Amino acid sequence: MARKKIWVAGHTGMVGSAIVRALKDRARDAIELVTADRSEVDLTDRDKVDHWLAKQRPDIVILAAAKVGGILANDTFPADFLFQNLAIETNVIDGAHKANVDRLVFLGSSCIYPKFASQPIQEASLLTGSLEPTNEWYAIAKIAGVKMCQAYRKQHGRRYISVMPCNLYGPADNFDLKSSHVLPALIRKFHEAKEKGAPAVEVWGTGTPLREFLHVDDLARGVIFCMDHYDGYEPINCGAGSDISIRQLAEIIAEVVGFEGDLVFDATKPDGTPKKLMDSSRISALGFKSEVSLKDGVKSAYLWYLANVKA
Ligand code: GDP
Repeated sequence: MARKKIWVAGHTGMVGSAIVRALKDRARDAIELVTADRSEVDLTDRDKVDHWLAKQRPDIVILAAAKVGGILANDTFPADFLFQNLAIETNVIDGAHKANVDRLVFLGSSCIYPKFASQPIQEASLLTGSLEPTNEWYAIAKIAGVKMCQAYRKQHGRRYISVMPCNLYGPADNFDLKSSHVLPALIRKFHEAKEKGAPAVEVWGTGTPLREFLHVDDLARGVIFCMDHYDGYEPINCGAGSDISIRQLAEIIAEVVGFEGDLVFDATKPDGTPKKLMDSSRISALGFKSEVSLKDGVKSAYLWYLANVKA
């Protein structure tokens, strides 16, 4: 088999770096991996993206670059989330087509599905109802990315696919409390509370929303699995298969971190969507299964935090 050249766009992010790690596990003679730093190729700059693609001529593009953030960041910076994600997607997907790239894997998000989609959420529920308002800007941009893959397949016969992950966590996550997602935020809050001997930690919302968490190494394996085995028009879900409440998640993290104080739920902060468990039966029917348990994943995320973030 000819050696495939793969460009992972967004290789420094949590998802992109996990995909790079997973691809490096492959035989070196099967693939050639290329990446570009932001200083070299700003993905929101169309000319830079076109130039890079014309120079590199990859066989496959994995589009893991995105502006991401937790519930508060999404709600506070709607223009940034909408514009930057649309710019990255249009530049990279249309640029790949122009550079004659026949295979592209686009990474979406479970927030593309309607707020009150029936659970577990099937791929077919896309665009059947209104979105969760706290992250609709990000969701609209991601839906546009899914539609671009479909449009380039329909009009130009491109084998472009979209993979939808649930909530992700793992190495290289964002631990900044204002912009992070819940899992890294709680690792940090519990750790700092333990260090200071604080009696309680504030958890946003009511603690009742349900979320599905997948370790990013599992997602990376899922993305590569789809690159090898999936070539459909519809997006394909890649989740862990079960969800837990934010309260239960907080309890697990507190135990892993060793924080023994109280949890104080701040209901003035948004809950977001009440439940978003995806139906991952299509990817599992193809033969993919996640491997990292939440407890083990939280333990390794905490170790990563201790080694890389903690002051
Ligand atoms: P979402 O899945 O898009 O809602 O993203 P998040 O990971 O930001 O939030 C998930 C849930 O965790 C929401 O109900 C938040 O209110 C709740 N949550 C509790 N504490 C925190 C926190 O410290 N940071 C964040 N980002 N969310 C929190």
